[in-house]
Amino acid sequence: MPADLIPDVLRTYGLLVVDDSEVQRRHLVSNLNALGISRVAEAADGNHALDLLETLNPLPAALIVDLEMPGMDGIELIQKLAERRMSLPLIVASSREAVMISSTETMISGLGLPLLGALSKPVAVPDLARALRKIDQYGAGMPDTQPETGVPVEALREALAQQRIQPFFQPKASVARAMVRSTEALARWIEPASSPIPPARFIPVAEAHGLMAELTLTILDQSIAAMRLWNSRGVQLPVAINLSPASLADTVLTEGLIRRVAASGLDARQFIFEVTESAMMGGDAAATACLLRLRLRGCGLSIDDYGTGFSSMQQLSRLPFTELKVDRGFVTGAHARPPLRTMLASAIDMAGRLGLSTVAEGVETAEDWALLRELGCELAQGYLIARPLPAEEFLHELPQINHRLRGLQAER
Ligand code: C2E
Ligand code: CA
Ligand code: CA
Repeated sequence: MPADLIPDVLRTYGLLVVDDSEVQRRHLVSNLNALGISRVAEAADGNHALDLLETLNPLPAALIVDLEMPGMDGIELIQKLAERRMSLPLIVASSREAVMISSTETMISGLGLPLLGALSKPVAVPDLARALRKIDQYGAGMPDTQPETGVPVEALREALAQQRIQPFFQPKASVARAMVRSTEALARWIEPASSPIPPARFIPVAEAHGLMAELTLTILDQSIAAMRLWNSRGVQLPVAINLSPASLADTVLTEGLIRRVAASGLDARQFIFEVTESAMMGGDAAATACLLRLRLRGCGLSIDDYGTGFSSMQQLSRLPFTELKVDRGFVTGAHARPPLRTMLASAIDMAGRLGLSTVAEGVETAEDWALLRELGCELAQGYLIARPLPAEEFLHELPQINHRLRGLQAER
């Protein structure tokens, strides 16, 4: 394949090759050069790669990852990228047997990371080029899978201090009753001259620089203000706040959350804290303590992105959750895809047995809404219902959203 067919994004941002063998790295680098990609960073194992990803600016457009490496192996590296929500497109290159490579593919798609290809070593240039070309599929319009360039930490500090990091609210609607029942606060960085900056661009920066407590507390403060505004107009809806896995062990943050919920004068049951499934599976005592304390005060606890981790029913039943949110990877398009449908049905069934309420995220079509109704899912969240909106706009739009939902129900 001629070099001019390689997407520009790869030439501009380059690649990171992670392989412990110097010989293999040389081989890959010269193949990439032959394809017109001259910007290639190299790491000898997962730890080295993660260090580089913290300093490289701009971030590479994609990673080529070997599986077997001393130090941090390729699998752990990929898990770490998922934990950090670094959705960089991946190419796996390994000399291990086919079943190892195909299981890695399954794991990567389960983690929701973009996979360009899983190749056997030595990597042939046409295979490499074919994989690289797939990066076009992760172009504009897919904010979560685009390689995100981080923002400067000083600018983030300033934005936090000036309350330019703000919550937008996305409704969660009751499927049976076709009306908005609850909301989730999603952080946005507001810049006067441009459209809001999505959290994928700044949450990792906040996490890396110890700013998550401040970010979470400003989101909570502004959410409380929004709830007061809504209450004054007769609208009472719980708000869900996202907690970053890394900040669960921060007792100062836990104290701050508890103090604010108590001081708000609102019913603690109006607050739900969302924690990703993968964050809870380490059995970390400090994280469990944080959840227990919030639950003791009456707040709800939600398992976010369920299905992307590897938790068992037993593990889930031992933690004080009240709600399970099925990851949108198992929801969007489920009506037409039997494997997703099976997973969704079993998650809803399991949540029911554990006494948890269920939320399906990523509901984009009336067909998926109808499926949720059939499966008895309690709440739905997604673009079909509404996009995340600023507090006042949310209040203003609410009657129309409820009206649309009733129309949706009547269609059937
Ligand atoms: P999440 O908690 O899983 O939030 C759901 C994400 O899915 C949001 O992206 C939302 O805008 C998007 N979404 C909603 N409906 C649909 C749909 O129908 N289709 C598709 N394709 N996407 C949909 P957003 O706002 O970009 O947030 C991304 C992630 O950033 C969140 O994922 C959450 O993990 C994190 N985040 C956002 N705000 C905060 C925050 O205040 N604190 C922390 N710790 N994390 C946050
Ligand atoms: Ca969430
Ligand atoms: Ca989620």
